[in-house]
Order: sequence, then structure tokens, then C-alpha cells
Amino acid sequence: MADRKNIYFYYKETEKIHKDLNNLMNQMAENGFKVVNSAKDANIIASIGGDGDFLQCIRRTGFRDDCLYAGFSNTDQLSFYCDFYLDHPETIMDAIHNQQMKVRRYPIIEVTIDDELSYLCINEFSIQSAIVKTFILDVYINNLQLETFRGDGLVISTPTGSTAYNKSVHGAVVDPKLACMQITELGSLNNNRYRTLGSPFIVSADKTVTLIVGKEGNEHPIMAIDNEALSIRQVEKIQIKLSDKKIKTVKLKDNTFWHKVKRTFL
Ligand code: NAP
Ligand code: MN
Repeated sequence: MADRKNIYFYYKETEKIHKDLNNLMNQMAENGFKVVNSAKDANIIASIGGDGDFLQCIRRTGFRDDCLYAGFSNTDQLSFYCDFYLDHPETIMDAIHNQQMKVRRYPIIEVTIDDELSYLCINEFSIQSAIVKTFILDVYINNLQLETFRGDGLVISTPTGSTAYNKSVHGAVVDPKLACMQITELGSLNNNRYRTLGSPFIVSADKTVTLIVGKEGNEHPIMAIDNEALSIRQVEKIQIKLSDKKIKTVKLKDNTFWHKVKRTFL
């Protein structure tokens, strides 16, 4: 971090943030950083808020892999992507000076819709029925047709997304050092015509998961990339794989993913 000096702050404008944010910006400037007004000029991007804001920060700044991202919590609780308190700027300054910072690399997934549009996700891609009716998806791993899913939908998550939506639907929590993606079901129907694995499954970085939407009258599912809905109405084929890019974030040495799991859930 020491050789990266241009810092951009991503935040929602609120009264409370401004006072603490000004203080943080001043401290950064006193310590040789330059606060820039455009993310394009930055090599460090700081998100102010919670995990949801961090997801937006990454998306709005284009999933840069040539930048370091840092999350600053504006509450009295740290979260999965936010390692620092906005109102304690001395923590990050001390860590920089005493070399207590480490860089983490988070796998992200790339979703391609009908061979045309591609999107990146740091938490998950989800697809679900938009009406009170099941829909059908053929699920492929590379060229193998694994199963025909009928139900409410599927969640395909990254390791860091494993503690979010994935966890609510009983997926496993995955160490982000494992480059992989996890597929969890939302209400699968299992009978003699439709059979799915029924348990979450995890695929390695070299696999592509393809979903083919069945044409049985429910071809307009809701698709979401992290906390944003896609405004695509008709879809036939969705391909999901790990991106070649990774998102780099800064962390304190003694704050591992498993510290966060314990702090948040146990
Ligand atoms: P939200 O509905 O306000 O957030 C849901 C909660 O998930 C918030 O407490 C958020 O933390 C937390 N969160 C976000 N990413 C996380 C992660 N990687 N690990 C652990 N917790 C995480 O919406 P949001 O804040 O914009 O977050 C969007 C995410 O919500 C989606 O990407 C999806 O994973 C999740 N989600 C969950 C469900 C569910 O559990 N049934 C349904 C839809 C979406 P903050 O309070 O710090 O923002
Ligand atoms: Mn939120």
C-alpha cells in the first residue's frame, strides 16, 4: 500500500459520514496520500458504509484489478468487506507504518447472458422465478448435462459471497483462498420427472456452469448480480465461470476470513 498513493473515496452523502470522512481524508493527506476526485485516477479505492455499499463501490468503479480496495465501516461493527472503522483513522495509519497490512485476493465470477452481455459479481449471481410458478433450468458443468432443475431458482456464489445469500439457503461457508464457485438451490421440486442433486455443490476454477432456461411458459426469471437486478426480460442461456480477474483488498494481519466468520456468526 505504501507505494500506492492516490486514494478515491466512494460514499453516500450523509451528514454523519462527512465529519468522520473529512477527518480520515485529512489524516490520509498528512501521511502522504493524495485524495482524488475520480476513481479513474486512483490506485486505492475506499468504500464507506457496509457490505452492501462495498458491493456497489466495486461495481460503480468497474471491478478494477489494478487497484486496492478498502472497506471502512460507518457503524460500530465491522463486516465482511469492511475491515476498518471510519471513525478510527489511526488504525489504518498505524497499520501502514508498522507494515501490519496484507493484501487479499478475492475470486469473482463472470456471468454471460445469451453469448452477448457479461457481468462480474463478487458475492453471487442469482436467478429466480418472477411469478408464482416454478421454472425449469438445465444445468451443465462444462459439456455434461448434470440435472434438470425445476423450482424457484439457483444461487451461484463466490467464496466471499458464501457468507451472504448462499449461507441463508444452507450453502457451505468457503475459504476465499479456494478459487471456486458454489451452486445452491432455491426450492427444488424433486419427483420422478425432475431430479436434482439436492445438496449445494462446489465446482473448481476451470469449470463453466451453463444454465439453459426451459421453454414451458416461465421464461422471464429475475436475475441479480450481487445487489443489483438485471433488467433483462428474455433469457435462454447463462454461462457462469470464475473470472481471470481478482479483487484485491487490504486487511489487517490478524483479521482473517475465519475471524470474520466467528465475529459475525458465532
Ligand atoms: P441487504 O438485503 O440489505 O443485505 C443483506 C445482508 O447481507 C446485509 O446485512 C449485508 O451487510 C449482508 N452481506 C452482504 N454481503 C455479504 C457477505 N459477502 N457476507 C456476509 N454478509 C453480507 O442487501 P445488501 O446490503 O445490498 O447486500 C446484498 C446481498 O444481500 C446480496 O449480494 C446477497 O448476498 C444478499 N441477499 C441475501 C438474501 C437472503 O439471505 N435471503 C436475499 C437477497 C440478497 P451490510 O448490512 O453490511 O450491508
Ligand atoms: Mn446492506
